[in-house]
Amino acid sequence: MFNRRKPEKLALTANSPVSKPRSTEAPSSPLAAELTRLLGPQKVLSAYGERLNYRYDAILVGKTPLCVVLPETTADVVAAVRAARAADVPIVGRGAASGLSGGAAPLEESLVISFTRMTKLTIYPEQREARAQAGVITLAVSEQARPHGLVYPPDPASFRTSTIGGNLGENAGGPMCFKYGVSGDYVKALEFVDVDGGIHELRRDAFDLAGLLIGSEGTLGLITEATLRLTPPPRFTRTLMSHFAEVGQAAEAVSQAIAAGAVPAKLEFMDKACTNAVEDYLQIGLPREAEAVLLVDTDGDDLATVEEELALVEAACQDHGGTVRRAADDAESAALWRARRSISPALGRIRPQRMNEDIVVPRSVLAEVVREIRSLGEASGFHLVQFGHIGDGNLHPNILFDPRTESSEKVHELAYQVAQVAIRHGGVLSGEHGIGAMKRDFMRDAVDAVTLEALWDVKRALDPEGMLNPGKILP
Ligand SMILES: Cc1cc2nc3c(=O)[nH]c(=O)nc-3n(C[C@H](O)[C@H](O)[C@H](O)COP(=O)(O)OP(=O)(O)OC[C@H]3O[C@@H](n4cnc5c(N)ncnc54)[C@H](O)[C@@H]3O)c2cc1C
Repeated sequence: MFNRRKPEKLALTANSPVSKPRSTEAPSSPLAAELTRLLGPQKVLSAYGERLNYRYDAILVGKTPLCVVLPETTADVVAAVRAARAADVPIVGRGAASGLSGGAAPLEESLVISFTRMTKLTIYPEQREARAQAGVITLAVSEQARPHGLVYPPDPASFRTSTIGGNLGENAGGPMCFKYGVSGDYVKALEFVDVDGGIHELRRDAFDLAGLLIGSEGTLGLITEATLRLTPPPRFTRTLMSHFAEVGQAAEAVSQAIAAGAVPAKLEFMDKACTNAVEDYLQIGLPREAEAVLLVDTDGDDLATVEEELALVEAACQDHGGTVRRAADDAESAALWRARRSISPALGRIRPQRMNEDIVVPRSVLAEVVREIRSLGEASGFHLVQFGHIGDGNLHPNILFDPRTESSEKVHELAYQVAQVAIRHGGVLSGEHGIGAMKRDFMRDAVDAVTLEALWDVKRALDPEGMLNPGKILP
């Protein structure tokens, strides 16, 4: 009988009531004892103070795990999974815990398998491939491939900390996803451990079973290694920033540029509140009055084409009333992109915590969606900023709050209203951050009953007893 475990009440990170440890001594569980026997004490964390660190991700505090293992090999993962199954303990995979949907936060007393020691990475320049264990840091792939004239394009803004396992768990995107695609597009094969401890190597064949694992947030299996596609980096990049009096103008400019044949490498949007937050932080002369700012890169190996694409974007921006500033050189380009990269620290100065939404809507309704969400923010009294990958219609409305003085229930309520706006306009709940625990309860509104049941069927087929990351994705 499939066990739909009852989810717990959720607490946002920094707002969790930290229950005092009764003791910092290891309150050894039979599972911890068995894992210590199997893997040795260096790979097992059983002391309360150590386990406490593994109950959260970047947005959610979950339940303190029963035990944590730090595997170094696939064989270690197999041993851990089998021991957890024998003890009837749920299993939660965890990378760098930079996730923004509560995916790596256990909702039940679980075994957390933390992949941070699985960092073996081999570059095969001839095949333009990398083989990475799950705990390899995203940026490390490009760093090690670059001497061979290759890079790994997926670029979540968290790429200095996030792991390949977490990226594949969420199918992470980034500013470059409009032209270059998301993490899953670079997977040629992957190895995963199933809920019974079986090891499988999947290639991207006609039946794309690897694709089923990608973006499944650790609910169908644990990815232990992946073969990743590498590409030569483009020889030339050009950058421009444009600002507009209306969000609709920016959205239309983007549509016109794309229709004219431009395929920008990066296409980022910031609303007025976001621009002002960054300007308060950096003081670099960003246009405070603008309702929308676009940051655009074109790139490629043929300079004439790169310039031509930039000219198409520039013309489209000007046609829609945008004021355009082209970066004169690499240094100016880096300075402009610093604005985008500084959003997180800039928002952190306003309120200590934020709920980061990740909706995707058709570009044609983007302006309306941005306006509706802004009105919701104003009515709620919360500070709300919006930015995102406008090329894909991927918008990140961020609700900023102080958990010491503002209610996380109200934050959730506003997040739900934001999700409703996306759904009403034909959009979806997540572009790249996943559903996790944070948006699990919105799924009934976003997905019809037949599709939801089909998703449950897949889950039942691969994890009949609901032992892998229970409480995530499926309501
Ligand atoms: C400042 C900041 C900026 C960000 N920018 C972006 C961005 O631009 N684009 C973007 O897409 N995301 C972004 N994120 C979100 C986050 O970094 C990504 O979702 C990232 O892919 C998570 O990687 P991680 O290693 O931290 O995974 P975790 O948070 O540890 O885990 C994420 C999910 O994957 C599962 N998982 C982890 N490892 C495995 C494994 N080996 N096998 C199976 N499942 C596994 C977990 O159970 C969980 O459900 C950002 C986050 C922050 C804090």
